[in-house]
Amino acid sequence: MGVLSMPPFCVMLCARHFGKESDAMDYLWSPWRYQYMALVTGGKQPECIFCDALARKDDAETLIVHRGEKTFVILNRFPYTSGHVMIVPYAHVSELNSCDAATLAEMMKLAQGTEMALRTIYKPDGMNLGMNLGRAAGAGVLGHLHLHVLPRWIGDSNFMTVTGETRVHPEELKTTYERLHKVLA
Ligand SMILES: [Zn+2]
Repeated sequence: MGVLSMPPFCVMLCARHFGKESDAMDYLWSPWRYQYMALVTGGKQPECIFCDALARKDDAETLIVHRGEKTFVILNRFPYTSGHVMIVPYAHVSELNSCDAATLAEMMKLAQGTEMALRTIYKPDGMNLGMNLGRAAGAGVLGHLHLHVLPRWIGDSNFMTVTGETRVHPEELKTTYERLHKVLA
């Protein structure tokens, strides 16, 4: 199962995707989602969740695990697996063409560091790295590009589909944040 065939990563499409599931299973999988969705549906949804997170300067709350010179690393609030992060340029740009060379270089350097951190912490069987550019590609945050990095385990997608109501995400975001922040800081 590759990046393109995964369930959508984004806020808008995730809401639609998980809307099909029962509340009980939904709660087991992502209890923190309720707080976030309350914010979103309360009419306070920021124009860009990445720019908003940067502006708040509360990295523990917004789940920014590392700030570089040109780019930063932030946890995905709707992780496909534990340790699912995104590497994002500070600049609000939607295309790689709009990134300067230093930004592109730092994105890959952070991808390298993130890969090492995820391998150390989670000991996965594999990893996915990928970008969804544009709505047709499944991008949730349309205006601000981001590189997904996530650990994978043999059988993790089977686990998610087969066990249905009983699927439980193994780790809360706060734990993921603490573990990654320690290694990437
Ligand atoms: Zn932005």
